Amino acid sequence: MGEITVIGGGFAGVEAAWAAAQRGVKVTLVEMRPERTTAVHKTGDLAELVCSNSFKSNLLTNASGVLKEEMRLLGSLILPIAARNSVPAGEALAVDREPFARDITTAIEACKLITVERREVTELPADRPLIIATGPLTATDLANDIARLTGTESLSFFDAVAPTVLADSLDMSRVFRASRRGRGNDLVQSGPEDESPGCTTPPQENADYLNCPFEKDEYLAFWQALCEAEKAPVHGEEDNQAKMVFFEMCVPVEELARRGPRTLAFGPMKPIGLEDPRTGRRPYAVVQLRQENREGTLWGLVGFQTRLKWGEQRRVLRMIPGLQNAEFVRYGVIHRNTYINSPKVLLPGCELRKVPGVFMAGQITGVEGYLESAAIGIIAGLNAARMVNGKEAVVPPTNTVLGSLCRYLVDTDPHHFSPMNSNWGIVPELPTTIKDKREKARLKSERALREITEWRTQLQD
Ligand SMILES: Cc1cc2nc3c(=O)[nH]c(=O)nc-3n(C[C@H](O)[C@H](O)[C@H](O)COP(=O)(O)OP(=O)(O)OC[C@H]3O[C@@H](n4cnc5c(N)ncnc54)[C@H](O)[C@@H]3O)c2cc1C
Repeated sequence: MGEITVIGGGFAGVEAAWAAAQRGVKVTLVEMRPERTTAVHKTGDLAELVCSNSFKSNLLTNASGVLKEEMRLLGSLILPIAARNSVPAGEALAVDREPFARDITTAIEACKLITVERREVTELPADRPLIIATGPLTATDLANDIARLTGTESLSFFDAVAPTVLADSLDMSRVFRASRRGRGNDLVQSGPEDESPGCTTPPQENADYLNCPFEKDEYLAFWQALCEAEKAPVHGEEDNQAKMVFFEMCVPVEELARRGPRTLAFGPMKPIGLEDPRTGRRPYAVVQLRQENREGTLWGLVGFQTRLKWGEQRRVLRMIPGLQNAEFVRYGVIHRNTYINSPKVLLPGCELRKVPGVFMAGQITGVEGYLESAAIGIIAGLNAARMVNGKEAVVPPTNTVLGSLCRYLVDTDPHHFSPMNSNWGIVPELPTTIKDKREKARLKSERALREITEWRTQLQD
């Protein structure tokens, strides 16, 4: 009988090992802790929560709540154990972290088909199927070896992400569609020499960007708020790493703002080559939004990588004209994060395109969060087990939250790929337009749960 090797005993690794073992396949799960630890883990337990103790909403009108239900239907290990160790958290599922991780460890160690080895993997073994689930803080030697498989250009070590908003939360009476005339877009962090005063342009056909235009007083109030907003706290080591990112990749928007009142207007908020069709003038400054998924439901703020606290991001960025009611599906971050460019290198069933039998799982695929990582672990474990059993790889239907996450990983433009969590914006729209947001979420949720239930029946594992 074939066996599977899983490297990494975090959220994805334990779910992958469990999913395979539930299908009768033997698994060796290799975890480096406690022999070697990461900058944020504190114990040798499997599936340790490194920060918040929340798995987010339980509500079935929330994409995260639906993802949980889909995972339960697919035999998740962590969710029943989370329920046993839950602590009061309103509509969210939060856990008492230590007993939770201990119970996960006990369940994995007690499973007859799973052997746990405690050692650091420094080179990828030749074992197939192999599941790599080493997470955002993958140890360096192994990360370098993974880069050998994916190509160094397809493996990132840092994440510098701008916030993403839902299209239907934008005020389109303020926002206009246009691309910069005669210039590339994304003119971020260029200097005053790029300014060419007096340039006004009519909106273009094929205009790919949404533009939020500022009057001078709006811009100055926004700049002031950005300068005064509170940054998220960081650990010493992370701070040094973040400084490297600023140097190598991009400066956070709040740092740019602190350099002076005009820096943003000459940089990421440069209005050059744009004319507001409502005024017929070039705005004083502009925030551009770039489409992030094929359906056009998600839009990212161009050049707005930030380390502000999430509440502060919501407060300050809602001062942008047109974003006053914006719903943020993800906030900006700049942190250490090892992840592959999945749209370039991954097949929908989590197997590397060019390396048959090697599966990627968890945050290293470009999903974000405990829950999402665990969910991708289930798919990798399921498909590795199917390979052992001579079956084709499968992916949940696109209308499910898990299926949408899988599709986001392989279907996004690889040039603008950035990690994603579960949200309704990645789930395809309903066939008819529903204005009421709660009703829309309810219908999407019903559809997702119906389709995952049917899919599970068809799996016949
Ligand atoms: C500072 C920080 C704060 C975060 N806060 C939150 C939060 O509040 N909420 C949230 O939902 N998510 C948060 N995340 C993200 C969350 O930690 C991840 O989404 C989740 O843990 C990813 O699961 P994973 O299984 O992919 O990786 P992990 O859970 O990190 O598991 C990977 C495992 O692989 C092991 N490993 C690594 N390299 C090797 C190797 N070479 N050999 C053997 N084993 C190895 C590690 O020890 C680890 O146990 C945070 C992440 C960080 C770094």
